[in-house]
Amino acid sequence: MSYVTRDRYLNPIATTYGPPTWECLHAFASIYRPSMESTARQLVDTLIGGFPCGACAEGGKKYLAAHPLDYSNRVGFARSIWAFHNAVNEHIGKPAYPWRSSLVVSL
Ligand SMILES: Cc1cc2nc3c(=O)[nH]c(=O)nc-3n(C[C@H](O)[C@H](O)[C@H](O)COP(=O)(O)OP(=O)(O)OC[C@H]3O[C@@H](n4cnc5c(N)ncnc54)[C@H](O)[C@@H]3O)c2cc1C
Repeated sequence: MSYVTRDRYLNPIATTYGPPTWECLHAFASIYRPSMESTARQLVDTLIGGFPCGACAEGGKKYLAAHPLDYSNRVGFARSIWAFHNAVNEHIGKPAYPWRSSLVVSL
């Protein structure tokens, strides 16, 4: 079975590991502070670079190389993770998810 597919139901690795990976990234972004930049970079590198669907990891790394995340503040970081997730949503044919201020804990 090919794991490079636009049909999410044919990609069990991505559907198993994708939701907790995104949840971790969004949750971390919701409490992010600039003092956490080094940890945030390591987290992103580990979760995306080590994502167990190889084609997904490569696609994620390419996206991040072309669209660097904004580590300057919490809202910027949360918005850039949201945009990254939406780019993957678009790639696999899912609708864009609306921005919600609840994705960010009040500063
Ligand atoms: C880096 C990366 C690359 C991937 N590449 C592929 C790929 O090429 N092919 C493939 O089939 N799968 C890929 N996946 C997996 C894919 O993103 C989904 O996780 C998987 O399809 C399961 O989708 P889901 O409907 O359960 O919701 P998910 O997309 O996992 O999202 C979980 C929940 O987050 C919420 N949500 C959705 N979008 C956003 C957003 N923009 N901001 C905030 N919250 C949001 C929704 O409530 C959703 O139910 C990739 C995952 C990652 C982390």
